[in-house]
Amino acid sequence: MQNNPKILEQLEAWVEENKGHAILGTTAQYIPALGKVDPSQLGICMVDEDGNYYCAGDTDKEFTLQSISKVMTFIALCCHYGLEFVLERVDVEPTGEAFNSIIPFEIHRPNKPFNPFINAGAITVSALLPGRTSQKKYEYLASFLEELVGHPMELDREVYDSEWKSSHRNRALAYYLKEANFLEIEVEEALDIYIRQCSVKVSVKDLALIGLIIAYDGFNPITKVKHFSEEIAQVAKVLMVTCGMYNSSGNFAAHVGIPAKSGVSGGILAAVPPKLHSQTYEFRAGAGIGVYGPAIDVQGNSAAGTMMLRQISKEWDLSIF
Ligand code: GLN
Repeated sequence: MQNNPKILEQLEAWVEENKGHAILGTTAQYIPALGKVDPSQLGICMVDEDGNYYCAGDTDKEFTLQSISKVMTFIALCCHYGLEFVLERVDVEPTGEAFNSIIPFEIHRPNKPFNPFINAGAITVSALLPGRTSQKKYEYLASFLEELVGHPMELDREVYDSEWKSSHRNRALAYYLKEANFLEIEVEEALDIYIRQCSVKVSVKDLALIGLIIAYDGFNPITKVKHFSEEIAQVAKVLMVTCGMYNSSGNFAAHVGIPAKSGVSGGILAAVPPKLHSQTYEFRAGAGIGVYGPAIDVQGNSAAGTMMLRQISKEWDLSIF
């Protein structure tokens, strides 16, 4: 497909129309470095299988992955140990609770965390990354990310330090995990790797490309490189649909219908699988989308970003359902 200027025009118009929805949220105040960011920003980038990028709005600013990293950590771990090994240690059940809730873990006492996208499951998964130290685990994850996006990744030190100092809830969760024998490494090491993965800097363009690779079941249609198996991609997409937007995943599935993952920095990674039968769909052959809008709603999802995806999905018939 040739680069289509109409797609860009349309995205620019939708950014303008949806910017105002930022007032429905606020920046993540519990991590001070995220709290002070300008909440009014909104940007989107979409990439198709021919490598056409359509980027509109505030797209030059980098932000941290936060919970979006949980998708890639899960995939990286599955690539290393196999899906079976990972699913023996973390389940694929949504909780319907907040991402950092201690309730499903403490009250239900499951024999493994409910899913790798709630913080309890994510800390468990990060701690399992290959490498003896959190530094080595981080290097493993960073090189996996670098292979996906094709350039070096950097850590946002300020965000890392800010979250490290304010991570009381995650520290509490990690102690629960340790007590339940889900953590083989020490609590502080587990927190270090988890917070590092959350503090990796990305752009909406990076997210769009990763979304494209997930949409194409681990295959990058631009470079023709196969990064992970269909089997792993399938479970990643199931998790994105059922748990990717936390306790508003049902609503997101109903109104947007695209496998996606959000982070409290205001980023959203969306994987639009090929939908060859669609009449109205501009991206019949599949696409990846990255969104940035730092004002987040109570569930921790970008307020304006979610509204914009809702509009795009409706207008272009992107829902997989
Ligand atoms: N680092 C954040 C935390 O643990 C990630 C949460 C998120 O993006 N939803 O609180």
